[in-house]
Amino acid sequence: MCLEKPEGRNSGRNISCTEVHSLSFTLTAKLKYWINSRISKARMRPTLSRRHFLQALASLLVLAKFSTVSKALGQGARVLVVGAGMAGIATARALAEQGYSVTVLEARNAIGGRIRTDTSLGVPVDLGASFIHGSRGNPLIDLARQFGAETYDTTEGEDLLVNAAGAIISSTLQAQGQREYNALFDRLVKIQDELSSDRSIGSVTKTLLRRIRQRRGTAIGDIASFLVTSEIGIEFGAELTKMSLLHFDEDEEFSGSDLIVKPGYIALINGLAQGLDIRCNQKVNQIGWNTSGVQVTTSQGTFEADRVVVTLPLGVLKRKGVIFSPGLPSAKAAAIEGLGMGVLDKTYFKFSTPFWQTQSENVGFIGNVGKRSSREIPEFYTLDQALGSPILFGFTAGSQAKRFEKLTDAAITKYTMARFRKTFGRPIPDPEAIIQTQWNTDPYTYGSYSYIPLNSKTAYYDTMAAPIDDRVFFAGEATHRTYPGTVHGAYLSGLREATRVIQSFS
Ligand SMILES: Cc1cc2nc3c(=O)[nH]c(=O)nc-3n(C[C@H](O)[C@H](O)[C@H](O)COP(=O)(O)OP(=O)(O)OC[C@H]3O[C@@H](n4cnc5c(N)ncnc54)[C@H](O)[C@@H]3O)c2cc1C
Repeated sequence: MCLEKPEGRNSGRNISCTEVHSLSFTLTAKLKYWINSRISKARMRPTLSRRHFLQALASLLVLAKFSTVSKALGQGARVLVVGAGMAGIATARALAEQGYSVTVLEARNAIGGRIRTDTSLGVPVDLGASFIHGSRGNPLIDLARQFGAETYDTTEGEDLLVNAAGAIISSTLQAQGQREYNALFDRLVKIQDELSSDRSIGSVTKTLLRRIRQRRGTAIGDIASFLVTSEIGIEFGAELTKMSLLHFDEDEEFSGSDLIVKPGYIALINGLAQGLDIRCNQKVNQIGWNTSGVQVTTSQGTFEADRVVVTLPLGVLKRKGVIFSPGLPSAKAAAIEGLGMGVLDKTYFKFSTPFWQTQSENVGFIGNVGKRSSREIPEFYTLDQALGSPILFGFTAGSQAKRFEKLTDAAITKYTMARFRKTFGRPIPDPEAIIQTQWNTDPYTYGSYSYIPLNSKTAYYDTMAAPIDDRVFFAGEATHRTYPGTVHGAYLSGLREATRVIQSFS
């Protein structure tokens, strides 16, 4: 159980679009070097793997030693960027720094997209992305440093597991369950190697878990089952029965620990957005292009430019609410259809004082796992260590998350507190405040992040990223084959597309 970890401490919030205009414009040398080194490469790679990212950085340092940054192709050309999440802001920043005239069009009244820092609980909590996943080689670490955003290195806190009857499970039993889960995972990968056609992760883990229960008993089987949900289901925000066993682990990770951005993840977005021309409340309805340029129609008017970079979330593209004219190529439409949009939601509870042991970072409720009708959050993370505030947050994923989005705060509180009171065996006051996220019904994302469904394929990520007619470009987490579903994937996709836009003028 080592998924999400505690949140940050200091104040942070999503900056408004008006504020972005008034901030000073500062150049970042690293982005400049990045873009110029990519331009100098004759051959484009569809994605940047970690290895290539590190190689690129190394060559940038060499470049920086011998030359000043060369002028970018097509400087001064007009570029529209649709969406002010990490991908859009990274694209816009990189192009603006190369002298392009960039305008970002965002439907919401604030920037950040699936990065959203909330301060209503008195400390900054992230309702979307929380963690910089992997502290070694992750480009976001440099951004955090550059913008003076302190990070908190999450450590493995004690896991507190609670069984279906509400009793706390001993650490010995926990360790046995963990060992069974590890063996199950190894077996899963072996089966994957032998597959001739795809199977769902759910169908295979069901059999493996049944065998564990037969061999080791229900108590250990339940722990292994809980870990399958926690480590795979919640990680990908998808139901196990819908996930591809053949392809689920084809992405890459940065090594090292997960970090929390203490002022909130939005600090990175706000830093990158300084000085950019960002127009909020501009819901894009139509994107058109021809040989002379692009036209983007929003709720407030039509914008014309030489190029457009589209960073619409996969969930929005799936709904077909934005019209592409003369139409998306059939391969792109198939990729949009073929990839899955998972749902991960968070529920935050703020208490007046902690009723849990403050050294425990994670509380897992084993009895709930796999019960489709469950109204109980399967796992919680405590935030007292990182925030100094008695806050718990829990995760729901897949169909359970969708159901949670329809529940009232009062209902969620009732079910959750009944569970806590049973486990801790004493009267515990209700929380002072609760925040339930609703990413699945959010009209500007319709889900949390992409995953590979049963019988789908990883190559769809490359198709998602393919430009159309050197006029329309695509960035966003669901266009990054190596790091999908992450903030760093979105960021790197933005740099990749900035490079492609520049190359398109050659
Ligand atoms: C609950 C949750 C937890 C997560 N946890 C982590 C984590 O810990 N670590 C991690 O690395 N990643 C995490 N992620 C994933 C990460 O947040 C995303 O991969 C990343 O932020 C996506 O960035 P993006 O720019 O591709 O998309 P977005 O941030 O969604 O940006 C797209 C933008 O387009 C805008 N838009 C949509 N429709 C229109 C329209 N019609 N017109 C104009 N604009 C429009 C949206 O409002 C949005 O601002 C999490 C996500 C969620 C939801």
